[in-house]
Amino acid sequence: MLDRIGYEAADLAAIRQAIHAPDGLVLVVGPSGSGRRTALYSMLEQVDPVRRSIQTIESSVLRPVPGWLQLRVPDGRRRDGCRWERIFARSLRSGAHAILVEKVATPGMSQLVVRAAQAGHLVLSSMALSRACSAIAELQRLRVTTAQVIDALSLVIGQRLIGRLCPQCSTPDNREPVRRALAVALNTWLAGHAIQARRAAPAGCARCGHTGYRGRVLAYELIDLDMRARGLIASGVDIVELEPGLLAEGRSIWDRGLKQVADGTTSLDALQAAVRQPH
Ligand SMILES: [Zn+2]
Repeated sequence: MLDRIGYEAADLAAIRQAIHAPDGLVLVVGPSGSGRRTALYSMLEQVDPVRRSIQTIESSVLRPVPGWLQLRVPDGRRRDGCRWERIFARSLRSGAHAILVEKVATPGMSQLVVRAAQAGHLVLSSMALSRACSAIAELQRLRVTTAQVIDALSLVIGQRLIGRLCPQCSTPDNREPVRRALAVALNTWLAGHAIQARRAAPAGCARCGHTGYRGRVLAYELIDLDMRARGLIASGVDIVELEPGLLAEGRSIWDRGLKQVADGTTSLDALQAAVRQPH
């Protein structure tokens, strides 16, 4: 499952390392519909439920998994945060080793999650944010200290699902904006890469329901909180400035999406609709 989501080999290794560590916090961020929980489920499935107690805390269970204890917290209007915090604290007391909690949205919850991740628990969660770096800033906004971030956080992924071009009806795309968008990447990390950019046929075909797209493809960015990244964050420099140094291979969601554009897997139009184009 995990290796079919669309993460590259080097990043899969970093993900596996974070999941098999004795403790730590793993965050997947993105807007709704970006496959956050599907990703978290595939990661948690790497943990052996016989040797480790696994629990999920969700507003609605994504899908039942044998061997996991899956708790549902109905979305209420008032004192919602407190209920999530109470249930999470109960999971900790019950001896859960790996806990997937759907969201971290209150200072109380962020403290519980961070302290658990510092004290022998693997915690997986998600945030409705656009970029991986924003997760660090958001934790700080939720009163998690920089020292706690460095100690607890092990991995952050920011991701989007983008329309996959229909292979039956897409056509080559040599438009100027496409060439311009690819030009910078071609001079750097895409150097030597064959460009096969394509676009959706306006009327599509019967195979794609006349949309020009069939299925979706993942674009993501990853921050592996290794010694180097921890040093950068500890420097106290603004996270936005640190971003290029923190991202794995220095590549953003846009960059990885652009590679799929170069490959003809998705179109520049679909990428632009899902990810803000850098200036
Ligand atoms: Zn088609």
